[in-house]
Amino acid sequence: MQLRYHPYPLQLQHTFTVSGCSRSQTPDVLIAITHQGVTGYGEASMPPYLGESIESVCRFLSRVRLEAFDDPFRTDDILSYVMHLDDDEAEAHNFAAKAAIDIALHDLVGQLLGQPLWRLFGLSPERCTYTTYTIGIDTPEVVRQKVREVEGQFGRLKVKVGVPGDRQLIQTIREVSDLPLTVDANQGWTSPEMALEQIEWLSGQGVIMVEQPLPKHDLEGLRWLTQRSPLPIILDESVQGPADVIRMKGCCHGINIKLMKCGGLAPARLMIQLARMQGMQVMLGCMTETSCAVTAAAQLAPCADYLDLDGNLLISNDAFRGGMQVIDGRVTLQSAPGLGLTPLTPPNPF
Ligand code: MG
Repeated sequence: MQLRYHPYPLQLQHTFTVSGCSRSQTPDVLIAITHQGVTGYGEASMPPYLGESIESVCRFLSRVRLEAFDDPFRTDDILSYVMHLDDDEAEAHNFAAKAAIDIALHDLVGQLLGQPLWRLFGLSPERCTYTTYTIGIDTPEVVRQKVREVEGQFGRLKVKVGVPGDRQLIQTIREVSDLPLTVDANQGWTSPEMALEQIEWLSGQGVIMVEQPLPKHDLEGLRWLTQRSPLPIILDESVQGPADVIRMKGCCHGINIKLMKCGGLAPARLMIQLARMQGMQVMLGCMTETSCAVTAAAQLAPCADYLDLDGNLLISNDAFRGGMQVIDGRVTLQSAPGLGLTPLTPPNPF
């Protein structure tokens, strides 16, 4: 098998503001794994808070020797080799780089078998629920305009809260839309008592779920809040990989799984099983990514209670067509083999 990779910075359509930071570009690396003339595509997207960069991802990928493997179906051997090929200097343990390999290898296997990945995983595509579309923090006029633009296309909106003025943002949205809302505080609420007060107010505003209300390490606060919250608490920043799913038992109602955090589809599937074993809900999220990584995450959508798979819709330079579509607000899976992607060349480097 042959591995190629290429830096591909993503341009965001709107400057993206969440509690803590603002940005207009996301570093990204596209990869391709080719075996006997068939190519699987993968991607590493690196939001700044996860500690990876184009340099660290390319350094990691330069050490991956896929030519040592001649059977792409031995995914267990290949992915455990990649998972343990860690660069000691990288604090983040290269999870986005590993996710890129995992995604491309799964895409390759699906194509070689002529089957979509959701089918190889034994899933039923009609179980996919609505995806949220994120409304960023902005002026009331811009918020009203954005909500009106997407009202007919999406069944649920996600709102970033945990900043001063967040109640007003919800009220502004409610002036123009009665769609169910999810909120993401991105660790922005400072105490469990204050978070509970916010959540009680939000539950009267048609909000159906709250993501990461408190700082990620405040497990005592999260446990207290989970026992009292009228809305489900889903943890994102507190949960990176499978071990965290076990660690968070009792501290939440569910977890947000992202391929770039955990290292790809194989660890994500394990996280889903661990969450279900513990009676937790499952959310599938994404970073700002091309259709490649979003479509990979969407292969697991039939397993999820909440979907937040809008990353490809937030960028202006997607490098693929095909793959997952949002139809009438729902994640809709295709029956093309693997991820079902066609590279757009240009701009796609492969
Ligand atoms: Mg989140």
